[in-house]
Amino acid sequence: MEFQFCGAAGNVTGSKHYVVCNNYQFLVDCGMVQERGKADENWNPVVENPSQVDAVFLTHAHLDHCGLLPKFVADGFHGYIYGTPATLELTKLILLDSAHIQEEDAIYKQKRHAKEGRVPPRPVRPLYRQSDVERAVRLFYPIQYSKPKKVAPGVEVIFREAGHILGSAFIEVILTKPEVDQDEPRRLLFSGDLGRANRPILRDPEYYREPNEISNLYIESTYGDRISAPIDTVDDQIVEIVNRTVERGGKVIMPVFAVERAQEMLARFAKMIVAGRISAETPIYLDSPMAVEATQIFYRQRDCFDEETIETSRKAKDAITNLHLFKTQQESRTLNEMKGPAIIMSSAGMCNAGRIKHHLANHIGNPKNTVAFLGYQAEGTLGRLILNGVNPVRIHGQPRQVRAEIVVVKGISGHADQAELLQWYSAIPRRPKTTFVVHGEPKAANALAEKIREIAPETSVVTPATGDVYKD
Ligand SMILES: [Zn+2]
Ligand SMILES: [Zn+2]
Repeated sequence: MEFQFCGAAGNVTGSKHYVVCNNYQFLVDCGMVQERGKADENWNPVVENPSQVDAVFLTHAHLDHCGLLPKFVADGFHGYIYGTPATLELTKLILLDSAHIQEEDAIYKQKRHAKEGRVPPRPVRPLYRQSDVERAVRLFYPIQYSKPKKVAPGVEVIFREAGHILGSAFIEVILTKPEVDQDEPRRLLFSGDLGRANRPILRDPEYYREPNEISNLYIESTYGDRISAPIDTVDDQIVEIVNRTVERGGKVIMPVFAVERAQEMLARFAKMIVAGRISAETPIYLDSPMAVEATQIFYRQRDCFDEETIETSRKAKDAITNLHLFKTQQESRTLNEMKGPAIIMSSAGMCNAGRIKHHLANHIGNPKNTVAFLGYQAEGTLGRLILNGVNPVRIHGQPRQVRAEIVVVKGISGHADQAELLQWYSAIPRRPKTTFVVHGEPKAANALAEKIREIAPETSVVTPATGDVYKD
């Protein structure tokens, strides 16, 4: 069996885990590289021969896990793309938005180059278009949580709750003859991105409880070297940020991931308003067509919610009176001239695209305002530059003075921290023979690998780099 690490090995984004069995080849995730300065890698072929790959198993709908599916299909892949119903619905939305942003960016860049009289090194065009997304969507095949599904002779998969975003799963692939040359089944386990317990909306991540031996475990390590702030202080921090910004007449600018984080924040604000902790009069804007559509998908897929959220959303209907869900650009533009305090949530969550760049450009220079980051910002993204204190910071090609208060809300991460990752690993009844530590910057991946070696010194623990190939 051959394991190729085509992405998110030695870094966080661009998850693509390629496995070649006897006659069956599959990819777990087909994500986009999002680190600034690395975006060119997305133009490389995902694998050498996409038409030979039988299936893609999708852990969840984040762009760094699904973002290259349309290109992969355009390059010749024609097998099924398997995911939970919520993942597939959210993936379609995310890919359409991604294609739309790329199409717009290409036009914008072409205009800018023309204006500046510059000739770019290669023609500016989108990585894929909305029509490519539609072709990929036709290959979607839903998989229910916790139900084994045979996808080919000798290949079965089970998706289990990962508690990371709505629909997220960790995936077990069970291989038997003819795909393996042994009588015992061979089991591979892909963690995808693992969430944390006690988050709004989501059920807690499940553990792998089966007494089977996993031959190869892939485990994410985004926060493999750190312990996150406790999740129960999150609301207190946000209440303070909102109230002190409102008091000085400023606006809170929140870059949010349109999927999950935006809905999580709506759930949190609802709870705060119901409890009288923030004023119901402060207008809350969710300025992102994708986030608004994602919110609608969340309602459709509410059988994935935890109990508490069903209760909160019922009460919230009456409590939130000044909430504005903006889809059109016209609506969005009204925010440029708007006076007085407000909360503006917009995407992309790492500020590398989307309307948030306009809101940052308009508001980052005013010391009354606050830019509140809600979690991880990948190396090289605009969000990371701002967090690193780069000042002035370039937005849309223009230098912008940073005078707003810059804060990070701690504990709001959608990723398990080191202790939670180790807890998840340790819950696996039999130690996996080989563990690949992926989806982390080298420092994080190495730290987690070291901890796993302490727990399971008899096993092999590998921190692969993108491009590596393992055979066993
Ligand atoms: Zn994710
Ligand atoms: Zn990820």
